[in-house]
Amino acid sequence: MPQASATPMTLDASRIDPNALAILERLRGAGFQALLVGGCVRDLLLGQTPKDFDIATDARADQTHGLFEDCLMLGGRGSVMTLVFQGGKPFDVATLRPLRTPASTPRVPLDADLLAVARELPVGTVAEDAASRDFSINALFHDPATGQTLDFVGGVDDVRGRVLRSLGEPSARFRDDPSLVYRALRISARRGLTMEPRTLEALREGVAALPTSPFALRLHELLECLSLGVAGACLRRMRELDVLARTLPSLGRLGPSAWEALFSLGDAMDRGHAQGRVLGHPARLAALLLPLADPQAVSGGDAPVPLAELVPAEDGAERPPLVEDGLTVLAAQRVLRQGPDSAGAPELLGSHLLTEALDVYALTLDATGGSRQGLDAWRARQGA
Ligand code: ATP
Ligand code: MG
Repeated sequence: MPQASATPMTLDASRIDPNALAILERLRGAGFQALLVGGCVRDLLLGQTPKDFDIATDARADQTHGLFEDCLMLGGRGSVMTLVFQGGKPFDVATLRPLRTPASTPRVPLDADLLAVARELPVGTVAEDAASRDFSINALFHDPATGQTLDFVGGVDDVRGRVLRSLGEPSARFRDDPSLVYRALRISARRGLTMEPRTLEALREGVAALPTSPFALRLHELLECLSLGVAGACLRRMRELDVLARTLPSLGRLGPSAWEALFSLGDAMDRGHAQGRVLGHPARLAALLLPLADPQAVSGGDAPVPLAELVPAEDGAERPPLVEDGLTVLAAQRVLRQGPDSAGAPELLGSHLLTEALDVYALTLDATGGSRQGLDAWRARQGA
């Protein structure tokens, strides 16, 4: 059994969400072990305010469920966890995993009786749970009651050195779980981390294998990278590593000036993020495809790529709603440029995607330094 290192590294406990503390308290009061885990511990040690607080416990999900009134159970990959709504905000409460669950483990069926499934699932130790996580800096536990940080994987040293290091056998991890490519890129961009050489090597292998993974998963993970205030950095790194073309093959057709236009759109997303504006998923997808589909919007002179060629058709399957909406937002950009009195305006003004379309229009103007007069006219019409 690995020992937890007691390497002291202080964190500012006042950054811990009081509602997370209340959940830990309730679990502990019922006799369970309960710790903060994952990104929140990483961010606290880095001196940053976490986005969300995840909790690990030796209570099974059915037991957690019994302790909290406002609580939802969710089935995941071979596990069940609880979302506890404390103060209106959801907190993941996950049962300690006995072993790393391979990506191939079947998901708990949607219609399963989760209480019954949870009762049967084995509970792991903190050390086993740490080993099942993705990167060493994401595998740290913190106990606010004692102020102790538990480190079974050398994660504290990696936080100190600002290094992103995959746990387990990196090649196998990245091969089994395509989401790690995107997670590695967004975590290192957000937190200014260097990738440990074996992790980077495994990531490159993971990138090569991306086209064999489900398109919907790749797209979702890519769009996640665009909502965190580091879209510009992620897009540049993803181009270097060929992640973009292996996620959305049409992006391989971008010419040099269109790449620059895409990076400028990413930088504009980041400026918006700094002011509390985050684009919806369809708007993010539309922004990604804009330099290809509508070069004029970003002052480019390339020939536009037809909408039908932008997103791969998967074996005759219908396009997911996100893709349909993204393409609608994209097509709306031409109408927006023509103004609120143009022929296409009435339909767009009645569309549930008008706000997303205007968000992309505003983003484009920010990226290109274009006049906002037309945008203001649309906004006035929207509010009328
Ligand atoms: P963020 O600040 O974006 O929330 P995070 O690291 O907390 O970063 P989450 O998606 O909230 O990211 O995941 C919480 C934790 O769950 C991670 O820190 C990690 O320990 C674990 N985790 C998430 N995804 C994976 C994965 N694909 N494989 C293994 N562990 C994972
Ligand atoms: Mg998190």
